[in-house]
Amino acid sequence: MYRRSDRKTIIMTIMKHMLSHNVNVTRVEFEGPEIAIYVKNPKVLVEYPELAKEIAKKLKKRIVIRTDPSARRPKKETIEIIKQLVPEEAGIEEIRFDDVLGEVIIKARKVGLVYGKGRSIYNKILAETGWRPNVIRAAPVRPEDLKLLNQIIDYMLSQSSYRLSMLRSIGERIHRGVIFENRYVRITALGGFMEVGRSAILVETSESRVLLDVGINPAGTGYDLYPRLDVDQLKIDEIDAVVITHAHLDHMGLLPYLFKYGYRGPVYATKPTRDLMVLSQLDLLDIAQRGGEKPPYSQLEVKKMVLHTIPLDYGEVTDIAPDIKLTFYNAGHILGSAMAHLHIGEGLHNIVYTGDFKFGRTRLLDKANAVFPRVETLIMESTYGDRDQPKRELAELELISTISRTAARKGKVLIPVMAVGRAQEILLVLAEALRKKLLPQELKVYIDGSIKQVTAIHLTYPELLSAQVRSRILRDENPFEHENIIPVDKKQTREEIAASDEPAVILATSGMLTGGPSVEYLRLLAGDPRNTLIFVAYQAKGTLGRRILEGEREITMVTGEGKVEIVKINMEVVSIDGFSGHSDRRQLLAFLANMKPKPRNIILNHGEPQAIHSLAETIRRRAQHLGLPPNVRVYTPAVLDSIHIAGNA
Ligand SMILES: [Zn+2]
Ligand SMILES: [Zn+2]
Repeated sequence: MYRRSDRKTIIMTIMKHMLSHNVNVTRVEFEGPEIAIYVKNPKVLVEYPELAKEIAKKLKKRIVIRTDPSARRPKKETIEIIKQLVPEEAGIEEIRFDDVLGEVIIKARKVGLVYGKGRSIYNKILAETGWRPNVIRAAPVRPEDLKLLNQIIDYMLSQSSYRLSMLRSIGERIHRGVIFENRYVRITALGGFMEVGRSAILVETSESRVLLDVGINPAGTGYDLYPRLDVDQLKIDEIDAVVITHAHLDHMGLLPYLFKYGYRGPVYATKPTRDLMVLSQLDLLDIAQRGGEKPPYSQLEVKKMVLHTIPLDYGEVTDIAPDIKLTFYNAGHILGSAMAHLHIGEGLHNIVYTGDFKFGRTRLLDKANAVFPRVETLIMESTYGDRDQPKRELAELELISTISRTAARKGKVLIPVMAVGRAQEILLVLAEALRKKLLPQELKVYIDGSIKQVTAIHLTYPELLSAQVRSRILRDENPFEHENIIPVDKKQTREEIAASDEPAVILATSGMLTGGPSVEYLRLLAGDPRNTLIFVAYQAKGTLGRRILEGEREITMVTGEGKVEIVKINMEVVSIDGFSGHSDRRQLLAFLANMKPKPRNIILNHGEPQAIHSLAETIRRRAQHLGLPPNVRVYTPAVLDSIHIAGNA
């Protein structure tokens, strides 16, 4: 039997603790995964900074202490007070308010000056205004590159009463009591098993249902476009939480669709994942519309999704259902990418779902995490389960020499990239090569699609990037920038860029030539043998990118005006491995060897059958060498398979 989590007991414990510090509590609310304590006097937040931590430790719950709305000064006055307290040199760009959290969001060029010595200014603002400062670094980017993101945040802040009532209803649901008759954990493969694309996993216990990722298949055409959300055991109003590991469409592309069909529960993701997924989804809608296709959802559902997204930091243990705690860990794949650790039923079972991960450093990000509090079942991606990738330095040399070769014959280079991840890696390489004069000085680098906006978002999260990139951003440099790197703004210039005589590199989305500007450039550049097409990322089965990679040299394309055109690929086609954000075979095995503690079940997903079978076979053969338990079970399920991994059958 399970202990009933009793809301009354929780509230009593809090009141007793607060009373012993003479704190006047007005309310205790269950807001989403957090317990919010509202206090009358903001000064206590300054006097007892450890108060929330102490209670959190006692209750093993996430605690926040907020000022009671009645204790918050009017916004106008607050802005005046902040302007008086913070020195001019801090360079405050913006002051906004989050009524739900009782926060004043201060965006400034020099964050340290807003905090003051020993947080003195920060504390003064809090004590005098009743608003808790949330100090954000203003990124060294042009404001228009973050326009869309700011609009989204404005929208979210404008819907504060909706957000508050939603958080409270989610909070009640998370803290409903649990009574276990029959304890079990079952995992069902809904998409992205024995394939790459449409990732979705259902985790069920006798008490709750959690979805891990809700992707689309970039190469899908009909039935295989979406994960199998139609299975019997999945009822939309019974889903307790959706967890998104990272902002690639094969992991979150279908998420707004859940809201179209009535889902009103929480979505857990890191902050950058939230920002990046909104951009990518809006981009998807835009591309679909231009291509004359009907997308599965509209902007309305994307907005709903934003309102329901609860951002989490790495390492924050969070109750997401009565019997499930979620913790994110760095996955090293793209900005904000996370591995999801689920702790189920107070020790019944622990799952780690890697999502896409890189167990190796890149220019942009640190290596993925491999140490967890407990793990019994590991769900691991296997994209390169049968292949090793060349060293990154070699890949960079090959990229630079291929570009130089193409430029020498007056050709152009097209590099299709996903907006998030590879685009920024390649930009870092090209910007450095241009600075070091390893590339012809007249070479222009055009970036097209949402790359520019996505790159701007990277600059707002320097703390999540590699030490090298971070320190440059903190020095107010933009490491993705060079005077030769030019964003393409208007549509007609694509033809001009393709027709001009100057040597150029074009970085354009989508990454697998499934639509968007990269396909348009391909049509314009394919016929000229002086040009080069460079693939730097994984090309999923069925995509145009994969078909060209496998030798197809005559393709049928539909132009913007709806004309059908046969395009001959006369340009050079090169694939450069080594830039991938996925772990190659060696790194997948190194992850298992370094993983602490070791899992007893390994479920392989996110790979084509050949990669999965090969990896499963290698793991079984080398189990002892990798330090895995002798009875380790390696599963290779297909979509619609369920595995019962713990509890009573
Ligand atoms: Zn990914
Ligand atoms: Zn993926």
